[in-house]
Amino acid sequence: MEATGYPQLDALLPRLAAIPTLDAQALHVERIAVLGRKQGALTFALRALPTFAAEERKRFGAEANRVKESFEAAFAAREYELAAQTAGAVRPAIDLSMPARGRWIGAIHPVTRVVDEIVGIFRELGFAVAVGPEAETEWLNFGALNFPPDHPALDMHDTLYLTEAGQSDEGRVLLRTHTSPVQIRVMQAGPPPYRVVIPGMVYRNDPWDASHAPAFAQIEGLAVDEGIGLVDLKATLTHFARRFFEPATKVRFRPSYFPFTEPSGELDVECQICHGSGCPACKQTGWMELLGCGMVHPKVLQNCGVDAERYTGWAFGLGPGRTAQQRYGVPDIRLLYGGDMRFLRRIAGQDPA
Ligand SMILES: [Zn+2]
Repeated sequence: MEATGYPQLDALLPRLAAIPTLDAQALHVERIAVLGRKQGALTFALRALPTFAAEERKRFGAEANRVKESFEAAFAAREYELAAQTAGAVRPAIDLSMPARGRWIGAIHPVTRVVDEIVGIFRELGFAVAVGPEAETEWLNFGALNFPPDHPALDMHDTLYLTEAGQSDEGRVLLRTHTSPVQIRVMQAGPPPYRVVIPGMVYRNDPWDASHAPAFAQIEGLAVDEGIGLVDLKATLTHFARRFFEPATKVRFRPSYFPFTEPSGELDVECQICHGSGCPACKQTGWMELLGCGMVHPKVLQNCGVDAERYTGWAFGLGPGRTAQQRYGVPDIRLLYGGDMRFLRRIAGQDPA
């Protein structure tokens, strides 16, 4: 600020100019030294006021006020500046000696990888993917699939029911015990031909032990058209097994029983570890169970409004968890469904995609 013309006031101006150089402590002291009501330098200068004539007193008062405002503004500005510097100083410093946190590298879960591969092989053969809800009715999960009403799978001990009593004539609501109700949904949605693979999670009232999980993945397939026979089933599933494992893999079909297929069978593949000579993994048989299959029972077709005189078909189902166990040599299914990152990382590294 320029000089006021009053020596009492102008004597203070060098102190005003020095304020931006003061540190916090000096600023506090200087504020009291200049603006303090009793001992302040400005208060001291104002003592000259009564010595002026009335007109002059007014002018002096106005100039003194200007000086006071300039000091107040300068103190406030410096205070703000110092506070900003302090805030900057307490910002957390970067500790360069701290070890870096490893990045998480994502990988496809081994069961999902098996499902994707199976879906891929059937896509090549012209199959589409179908999915359905995990909560189903008794009718879709059992009845339409030709389960007799006294079949043990309907028991509370085998199935997780969500409702006590049926809300409709389709019976109680339950967590699906297999992906097969989606076959029913596909067939009910329109006329044949159908060629679908159906991946999904299924639920059973099973313990959580080395070979059981209450929730696990399943994948199944359905082909229905005019003139489809057992030879189509055998040829397609043999092709699938050889695409999934090795081109020369030996396969065998064994008779079996499922309520929804007739005839029913199981497909075994040559043990991929010992190639047939017998080892602990295949319990010395030389074979591994791969899937269950069969010709769709005519009653299942009829339940879905499909003309069983005109159309025939085959279906298969397998647990990709067990297939992943076989492929990656996993002894305990809990490792696959338990989500332990140490195990999953090892599998991901062991077989890079
Ligand atoms: Zn073996």
